[in-house]
Amino acid sequence: SASSRTPGVLKPHERTRCVMVGNVPVGGGAPVAVQSMLNAPADDVAANLAQIEALAEAGCEIVRMAIPRRNCLDAFEAVCAASPLPVVADIHFDARIAIEAARRGAAKLRINPGNIGGLEATREVIAAARAAGIPIRIGVNAGSLDDALAARDDLTLPEKLVASAVEYVRFFEDECDFRDIVVSAKAHDVQTTIDTYRLLASALPQVPLHIGVTEAGTAFQGIIKSACGLGVLLEEGIGDTMRISLTDDPVVEVRACWTLLGSLDLRRRAPELISCPTCGRCQVNLIGLAREVEERLANVQKPVKVAVMGCVVNGPGEAADADIGVACGAGSGVVFSHGKIVRKVPESDIVTALMEELETL
Ligand code: SF4
Repeated sequence: SASSRTPGVLKPHERTRCVMVGNVPVGGGAPVAVQSMLNAPADDVAANLAQIEALAEAGCEIVRMAIPRRNCLDAFEAVCAASPLPVVADIHFDARIAIEAARRGAAKLRINPGNIGGLEATREVIAAARAAGIPIRIGVNAGSLDDALAARDDLTLPEKLVASAVEYVRFFEDECDFRDIVVSAKAHDVQTTIDTYRLLASALPQVPLHIGVTEAGTAFQGIIKSACGLGVLLEEGIGDTMRISLTDDPVVEVRACWTLLGSLDLRRRAPELISCPTCGRCQVNLIGLAREVEERLANVQKPVKVAVMGCVVNGPGEAADADIGVACGAGSGVVFSHGKIVRKVPESDIVTALMEELETL
């Protein structure tokens, strides 16, 4: 968009207020924070902590945990106490749980005022968050819109979602004098998501936005839908924190977030793999090689480019442009580091050679 490229003009995510989720800044021009949600049983402390460990290693910065019942609060408190990442409490239907979660270590609360028991119950949750010094995410969802608003046929779905979010924000800010908020308004289809967040960014320019396509599906479909929707928004500077929701291991969500942020050159944490699609010129098992390299790079925290190329047509050029790379020949590969040939190895040694060169960077 023009605004995201014009020097001197603030992007939408630079105009938002900064909210702290534990030690992670969200909004105010801070880097887009990567988050995910735990899916271990809510009362199993060890399983949730193990999942947090894996998520942190993959680059997750904020983690959310559901508290479906009051008898899960002890587990939630124990997880918060031991977690290296700030833990957001996700609560529906019962304001008492939200109030308790704020007292027991939540770094943020995620509620939908529409199902937490009305505005008076919301007011009590706000008081608890204020006392604990933590923010609240107001999470509006296409699947749980207020009945009266849902029934209106003069508004599109994005307009209904935004009207609902704006009404809640006015309540938080004007009636409760509480501005430590983040807003999300999620739908499961891409166009509704894009339209909704564009409207939100202009209706609530100061409120940090949590962006995501909800219920996006299993990894393949979900990553594509999320990349389309969130990619457009991030490119326009909309979005202060993100989640890619997948019916899969949450670690995959985090890898997908980082890959998307890296693709847009917004943030980079792990190496970027450049690999050719292969064609009839290729004389090695390049698909296998590229997959193996990708696997070995998964937890490497160096923002470098690694090229795996099938032949001499584009191979040497791409391999030389990357930080490290290999251009393959007949059963062999020439390894490059910063544009210089460093060795020639047989096919069976290519992955090891690349990893050794990566170590030296
Ligand atoms: Fe084909 Fe070589 Fe291009 Fe790979 S780099 S797609 S093998 S021409």
